[in-house]
Amino acid sequence: MIQITLPLNMLGTVYREIRQALIDMSEMFVLLDQPAEVQNKPGAKALAVAGGEIELDNVIFGYDPERVILKGVSLKVGAGQKVALVGSSGSGKSTIGRLLFRFYDVTGGAIRIDGQDLRDVTQDSLHDAIGVVPQDTVLFNDTVGYNIAYGRDNASREEIEVAARAAQIHDFIVSLPEGYETRVGERGLKLSGGEKQRVGIARTLLKNPPILLLDEATSALDTDTEREIQSALNRAGEGRTVLTIAHRLSTIADADRIVVLEQGLVVEEGTHVELLERNGRYASLWQRQSAEADEAA
Ligand code: ADP
Ligand code: MG
Repeated sequence: MIQITLPLNMLGTVYREIRQALIDMSEMFVLLDQPAEVQNKPGAKALAVAGGEIELDNVIFGYDPERVILKGVSLKVGAGQKVALVGSSGSGKSTIGRLLFRFYDVTGGAIRIDGQDLRDVTQDSLHDAIGVVPQDTVLFNDTVGYNIAYGRDNASREEIEVAARAAQIHDFIVSLPEGYETRVGERGLKLSGGEKQRVGIARTLLKNPPILLLDEATSALDTDTEREIQSALNRAGEGRTVLTIAHRLSTIADADRIVVLEQGLVVEEGTHVELLERNGRYASLWQRQSAEADEAA
Protein backbone atom coordinates (compact mmCIF):
# COMPACT_ATOMS: atom_id res chain seq x y z
CA MET A 1 0.00 0.00 0.00
CA ILE A 2 1.14 3.52 -0.67
CA GLN A 3 1.51 5.61 2.43
CA ILE A 4 1.52 9.36 2.04
CA THR A 5 2.32 11.35 5.13
CA LEU A 6 3.39 14.75 3.78
CA PRO A 7 1.23 17.79 4.56
CA LEU A 8 -0.27 17.56 1.12
CA ASN A 9 -2.68 20.45 1.44
CA MET A 10 0.27 22.79 1.33
CA LEU A 11 1.53 21.52 -1.96
CA GLY A 12 0.55 22.61 -5.42
CA THR A 13 -1.60 21.26 -8.18
CA VAL A 14 1.10 19.13 -9.71
CA TYR A 15 1.59 17.21 -6.53
CA ARG A 16 -2.14 16.82 -6.13
CA GLU A 17 -2.32 15.29 -9.55
CA ILE A 18 0.47 12.89 -8.79
CA ARG A 19 -1.21 11.95 -5.54
CA GLN A 20 -4.51 11.42 -7.32
CA ALA A 21 -2.78 9.31 -9.92
CA LEU A 22 -1.24 7.23 -7.17
CA ILE A 23 -4.58 6.66 -5.58
CA ASP A 24 -6.24 5.81 -8.84
CA MET A 25 -3.58 3.38 -9.89
CA SER A 26 -2.88 1.90 -6.51
CA GLU A 27 -0.92 -1.29 -6.81
CA MET A 28 -1.93 -1.81 -10.36
CA PHE A 29 0.77 0.47 -11.63
CA VAL A 30 3.82 0.61 -9.48
CA LEU A 31 5.19 4.12 -9.58
CA LEU A 32 8.78 3.15 -10.23
CA ASP A 33 7.69 1.11 -13.20
CA GLN A 34 6.45 4.18 -14.97
CA PRO A 35 8.17 5.02 -18.22
CA ALA A 36 8.82 8.50 -19.53
CA GLU A 37 5.40 9.94 -20.03
CA VAL A 38 3.62 9.18 -23.25
CA GLN A 39 2.97 12.52 -24.93
CA ASN A 40 -0.15 13.87 -26.55
CA LYS A 41 0.25 13.90 -30.28
CA PRO A 42 0.17 17.42 -31.79
CA GLY A 43 -3.43 18.31 -32.46
CA ALA A 44 -4.75 15.38 -30.42
CA LYS A 45 -8.50 15.58 -29.89
CA ALA A 46 -10.55 14.72 -26.86
CA LEU A 47 -11.86 11.17 -26.89
CA ALA A 48 -15.51 11.22 -27.86
CA VAL A 49 -17.12 8.38 -25.95
CA ALA A 50 -20.27 6.92 -27.46
CA GLY A 51 -20.90 3.59 -25.75
CA GLY A 52 -17.41 2.86 -24.49
CA GLU A 53 -16.49 -0.01 -26.80
CA ILE A 54 -12.93 -1.22 -26.29
CA GLU A 55 -11.05 -2.93 -29.07
CA LEU A 56 -7.59 -4.45 -29.00
CA ASP A 57 -6.61 -5.12 -32.57
CA ASN A 58 -3.67 -7.50 -32.90
CA VAL A 59 -1.77 -5.76 -30.13
CA ILE A 60 1.94 -6.42 -29.87
CA PHE A 61 3.85 -5.03 -26.94
CA GLY A 62 7.01 -5.49 -24.89
CA TYR A 63 8.42 -3.36 -22.08
CA ASP A 64 11.74 -3.75 -23.78
CA PRO A 65 12.39 -4.72 -27.40
CA GLU A 66 14.12 -7.98 -26.52
CA ARG A 67 11.12 -9.43 -24.77
CA VAL A 68 7.70 -9.38 -26.38
CA ILE A 69 4.95 -9.68 -23.78
CA LEU A 70 1.78 -9.39 -25.88
CA LYS A 71 2.16 -11.28 -29.12
CA GLY A 72 -0.87 -10.23 -31.12
CA VAL A 73 -3.84 -9.88 -28.80
CA SER A 74 -7.24 -9.14 -30.28
CA LEU A 75 -10.27 -8.69 -28.12
CA LYS A 76 -13.38 -6.60 -28.09
CA VAL A 77 -15.50 -5.40 -25.21
CA GLY A 78 -18.75 -4.13 -26.65
CA ALA A 79 -20.40 -1.02 -25.26
CA GLY A 80 -21.87 -1.91 -21.87
CA GLN A 81 -20.43 -5.42 -21.89
CA LYS A 82 -18.64 -7.11 -18.99
CA VAL A 83 -15.55 -8.96 -20.06
CA ALA A 84 -13.11 -10.72 -17.76
CA LEU A 85 -9.50 -11.38 -18.55
CA VAL A 86 -8.00 -14.44 -16.90
CA GLY A 87 -4.79 -16.40 -17.21
CA SER A 88 -1.88 -17.46 -15.11
CA SER A 89 0.37 -14.97 -13.41
CA GLY A 90 2.65 -13.21 -15.87
CA SER A 91 0.41 -13.89 -18.87
CA GLY A 92 0.05 -10.14 -19.55
CA LYS A 93 -3.30 -9.24 -18.00
CA SER A 94 -2.19 -6.17 -16.07
CA THR A 95 -0.11 -5.09 -19.04
CA ILE A 96 -3.33 -4.83 -21.06
CA GLY A 97 -4.73 -2.58 -18.32
CA ARG A 98 -1.68 -0.34 -18.50
CA LEU A 99 -1.92 -0.11 -22.28
CA LEU A 100 -5.60 0.76 -22.09
CA PHE A 101 -4.61 3.66 -19.89
CA ARG A 102 -1.87 4.43 -22.38
CA PHE A 103 0.96 4.31 -19.94
CA TYR A 104 2.78 2.83 -22.88
CA ASP A 105 2.12 2.79 -26.59
CA VAL A 106 1.63 -0.50 -28.37
CA THR A 107 4.49 -1.66 -30.59
CA GLY A 108 2.15 -3.19 -33.14
CA GLY A 109 -1.57 -3.19 -33.79
CA ALA A 110 -3.87 -0.70 -32.13
CA ILE A 111 -6.16 -0.09 -29.19
CA ARG A 112 -9.35 1.82 -29.88
CA ILE A 113 -12.18 3.17 -27.80
CA ASP A 114 -15.33 3.75 -29.82
CA GLY A 115 -13.19 3.50 -32.92
CA GLN A 116 -10.62 6.10 -31.89
CA ASP A 117 -7.00 5.06 -31.66
CA LEU A 118 -5.67 5.86 -28.19
CA ARG A 119 -2.64 7.51 -29.78
CA ASP A 120 -4.91 10.09 -31.43
CA VAL A 121 -6.70 11.32 -28.33
CA THR A 122 -5.57 13.41 -25.38
CA GLN A 123 -4.38 11.66 -22.27
CA ASP A 124 -6.70 13.67 -20.05
CA SER A 125 -9.79 12.73 -22.01
CA LEU A 126 -8.73 9.08 -21.99
CA HIS A 127 -8.17 9.07 -18.25
CA ASP A 128 -11.51 10.78 -17.67
CA ALA A 129 -13.24 8.00 -19.59
CA ILE A 130 -11.78 5.12 -17.60
CA GLY A 131 -12.42 4.57 -13.93
CA VAL A 132 -10.00 2.35 -12.09
CA VAL A 133 -11.07 0.69 -8.89
CA PRO A 134 -7.94 0.29 -6.83
CA GLN A 135 -7.21 -2.79 -4.81
CA ASP A 136 -6.28 -0.68 -1.87
CA THR A 137 -8.02 2.58 -1.08
CA VAL A 138 -6.05 5.25 0.72
CA LEU A 139 -8.17 7.22 3.17
CA PHE A 140 -7.29 10.72 4.29
CA ASN A 141 -7.78 11.99 7.81
CA ASP A 142 -10.91 13.85 6.90
CA THR A 143 -14.62 13.23 6.62
CA VAL A 144 -15.99 10.27 4.72
CA GLY A 145 -17.71 12.73 2.37
CA TYR A 146 -14.38 14.40 1.62
CA ASN A 147 -12.85 11.01 1.01
CA ILE A 148 -15.46 10.14 -1.59
CA ALA A 149 -15.27 13.54 -3.27
CA TYR A 150 -11.49 13.46 -3.24
CA GLY A 151 -10.16 14.65 -6.57
CA ARG A 152 -13.42 16.36 -7.47
CA ASP A 153 -13.53 19.40 -5.25
CA ASN A 154 -16.65 20.75 -6.90
CA ALA A 155 -18.82 17.67 -6.30
CA SER A 156 -22.18 18.43 -4.72
CA ARG A 157 -23.51 16.50 -1.76
CA GLU A 158 -26.12 15.00 -4.02
CA GLU A 159 -23.51 13.70 -6.47
CA ILE A 160 -21.51 12.24 -3.59
CA GLU A 161 -24.60 10.42 -2.34
CA VAL A 162 -25.44 9.04 -5.76
CA ALA A 163 -21.92 7.61 -6.01
CA ALA A 164 -22.09 6.25 -2.45
CA ARG A 165 -25.40 4.55 -3.16
CA ALA A 166 -24.06 2.93 -6.28
CA ALA A 167 -21.04 1.71 -4.31
CA GLN A 168 -23.42 0.38 -1.64
CA ILE A 169 -21.83 2.39 1.14
CA HIS A 170 -24.49 5.08 1.59
CA ASP A 171 -26.56 3.19 4.16
CA PHE A 172 -23.48 2.47 6.21
CA ILE A 173 -22.44 6.13 6.10
CA VAL A 174 -25.79 7.48 7.24
CA SER A 175 -25.73 5.04 10.15
CA LEU A 176 -22.54 6.71 11.44
CA PRO A 177 -22.91 9.27 14.26
CA GLU A 178 -22.10 12.20 12.02
CA GLY A 179 -23.08 10.69 8.68
CA TYR A 180 -21.05 12.08 5.79
CA GLU A 181 -19.28 14.40 8.23
CA THR A 182 -17.82 11.50 10.21
CA ARG A 183 -14.05 11.65 10.28
CA VAL A 184 -12.28 8.55 9.05
CA GLY A 185 -8.70 7.47 8.51
CA GLU A 186 -5.87 6.88 10.94
CA ARG A 187 -7.06 9.51 13.37
CA GLY A 188 -10.77 8.99 12.88
CA LEU A 189 -13.10 6.06 12.57
CA LYS A 190 -11.26 3.03 11.25
CA LEU A 191 -13.13 1.46 8.38
CA SER A 192 -12.93 -2.23 7.58
CA GLY A 193 -11.21 -3.35 4.38
CA GLY A 194 -14.55 -3.81 2.65
CA GLU A 195 -15.85 -0.41 3.73
CA LYS A 196 -12.65 1.27 2.60
CA GLN A 197 -12.87 -0.40 -0.74
CA ARG A 198 -16.46 0.70 -1.20
CA VAL A 199 -15.39 4.27 -0.43
CA GLY A 200 -12.82 3.76 -3.19
CA ILE A 201 -15.51 2.53 -5.56
CA ALA A 202 -17.68 5.55 -4.74
CA ARG A 203 -14.70 7.82 -5.40
CA THR A 204 -14.26 6.27 -8.82
CA LEU A 205 -17.96 6.41 -9.63
CA LEU A 206 -18.13 10.09 -8.84
CA LYS A 207 -16.16 10.61 -12.05
CA ASN A 208 -19.02 8.76 -13.77
CA PRO A 209 -16.65 7.02 -16.18
CA PRO A 210 -18.24 5.14 -19.09
CA ILE A 211 -15.55 2.47 -18.74
CA LEU A 212 -14.46 0.64 -15.61
CA LEU A 213 -11.18 -1.20 -15.39
CA LEU A 214 -10.90 -3.53 -12.43
CA ASP A 215 -7.68 -5.25 -11.51
CA GLU A 216 -8.62 -7.68 -8.82
CA ALA A 217 -6.66 -8.14 -5.66
CA THR A 218 -4.66 -11.34 -5.65
CA SER A 219 -4.94 -11.79 -1.93
CA ALA A 220 -8.01 -13.64 -0.79
CA LEU A 221 -10.55 -11.49 1.00
CA ASP A 222 -12.81 -13.08 3.54
CA THR A 223 -16.02 -14.33 2.04
CA ASP A 224 -18.30 -11.63 3.47
CA THR A 225 -16.02 -8.83 2.32
CA GLU A 226 -15.67 -10.39 -1.07
CA ARG A 227 -19.43 -10.66 -1.41
CA GLU A 228 -19.88 -7.02 -0.35
CA ILE A 229 -17.31 -5.78 -2.82
CA GLN A 230 -18.57 -7.97 -5.60
CA SER A 231 -22.10 -6.79 -5.17
CA ALA A 232 -20.94 -3.15 -5.08
CA LEU A 233 -18.88 -3.69 -8.22
CA ASN A 234 -21.75 -5.34 -10.04
CA ARG A 235 -23.94 -2.39 -9.24
CA ALA A 236 -21.16 0.06 -10.15
CA GLY A 237 -20.78 -1.61 -13.53
CA GLU A 238 -24.41 -1.14 -14.54
CA GLY A 239 -24.60 0.83 -17.74
CA ARG A 240 -20.83 0.86 -18.18
CA THR A 241 -18.30 -1.12 -20.14
CA VAL A 242 -16.33 -3.23 -17.69
CA LEU A 243 -13.02 -4.98 -18.20
CA THR A 244 -12.06 -7.06 -15.19
CA ILE A 245 -8.60 -8.47 -14.75
CA ALA A 246 -9.45 -11.43 -12.62
CA HIS A 247 -7.39 -13.64 -10.38
CA ARG A 248 -10.19 -15.39 -8.58
CA LEU A 249 -12.43 -17.01 -11.15
CA SER A 250 -15.33 -17.31 -8.71
CA THR A 251 -16.02 -13.59 -9.06
CA ILE A 252 -16.30 -13.50 -12.85
CA ALA A 253 -18.37 -16.56 -13.65
CA ASP A 254 -21.28 -14.35 -14.76
CA ALA A 255 -19.25 -12.11 -17.09
CA ASP A 256 -20.67 -11.75 -20.61
CA ARG A 257 -17.42 -13.18 -21.89
CA ILE A 258 -14.21 -14.54 -20.43
CA VAL A 259 -10.96 -14.19 -22.34
CA VAL A 260 -8.13 -16.51 -21.40
CA LEU A 261 -4.64 -15.19 -21.92
CA GLU A 262 -1.51 -17.34 -21.85
CA GLN A 263 1.98 -16.11 -22.60
CA GLY A 264 0.71 -13.02 -24.32
CA LEU A 265 -1.87 -14.69 -26.54
CA VAL A 266 -5.61 -15.22 -26.33
CA VAL A 267 -6.01 -18.98 -26.09
CA GLU A 268 -9.73 -19.29 -25.28
CA GLU A 269 -12.80 -17.12 -25.21
CA GLY A 270 -16.40 -17.72 -24.20
CA THR A 271 -18.83 -17.74 -21.32
CA HIS A 272 -18.05 -19.60 -18.12
CA VAL A 273 -20.31 -22.47 -19.15
CA GLU A 274 -18.90 -22.66 -22.68
CA LEU A 275 -15.35 -22.67 -21.39
CA LEU A 276 -16.04 -25.37 -18.83
CA GLU A 277 -17.58 -27.53 -21.55
CA ARG A 278 -14.57 -26.98 -23.71
CA ASN A 279 -12.49 -28.54 -20.97
CA GLY A 280 -9.36 -26.64 -21.88
CA ARG A 281 -7.20 -24.04 -20.18
CA TYR A 282 -10.02 -22.22 -18.39
CA ALA A 283 -11.52 -25.46 -17.14
CA SER A 284 -8.21 -26.51 -15.67
CA LEU A 285 -7.70 -23.10 -14.01
CA TRP A 286 -11.21 -23.41 -12.60
CA GLN A 287 -10.62 -26.89 -11.28
CA ARG A 288 -7.37 -25.86 -9.68
CA GLN A 289 -8.95 -22.88 -7.95
CA SER A 290 -11.94 -24.90 -6.78
CA ALA A 291 -9.58 -27.46 -5.29
CA GLU A 292 -7.63 -24.71 -3.53
CA ALA A 293 -10.85 -23.22 -2.19
CA ASP A 294 -11.89 -26.61 -0.86
CA GLU A 295 -8.55 -27.06 0.84
CA ALA A 296 -8.83 -23.63 2.44
CA ALA A 297 -12.38 -24.28 3.64
P1 ADP B 1 -0.28 -10.62 -15.16
O1 ADP B 1 -1.02 -9.39 -14.75
O2 ADP B 1 -1.03 -11.49 -16.11
O3 ADP B 1 0.20 -11.41 -13.98
P2 ADP B 1 1.67 -8.75 -16.20
O4 ADP B 1 0.96 -8.07 -17.31
O5 ADP B 1 1.81 -8.00 -14.94
O6 ADP B 1 1.04 -10.20 -15.97
O7 ADP B 1 3.12 -9.14 -16.69
C1 ADP B 1 3.37 -9.80 -17.92
C2 ADP B 1 4.86 -9.92 -18.09
O8 ADP B 1 5.43 -8.62 -18.23
C3 ADP B 1 5.57 -10.57 -16.92
O9 ADP B 1 6.55 -11.44 -17.44
C4 ADP B 1 6.20 -9.43 -16.21
O10 ADP B 1 7.39 -9.82 -15.57
C5 ADP B 1 6.48 -8.44 -17.30
N1 ADP B 1 6.45 -7.05 -16.83
C6 ADP B 1 5.44 -6.47 -16.14
N2 ADP B 1 5.73 -5.19 -15.88
C7 ADP B 1 6.95 -4.95 -16.40
C8 ADP B 1 7.81 -3.80 -16.47
N3 ADP B 1 7.42 -2.64 -15.96
N4 ADP B 1 9.00 -3.93 -17.09
C9 ADP B 1 9.38 -5.13 -17.62
N5 ADP B 1 8.62 -6.24 -17.60
C10 ADP B 1 7.42 -6.16 -17.00
MG1 MG C 1 -1.62 -8.64 -12.82
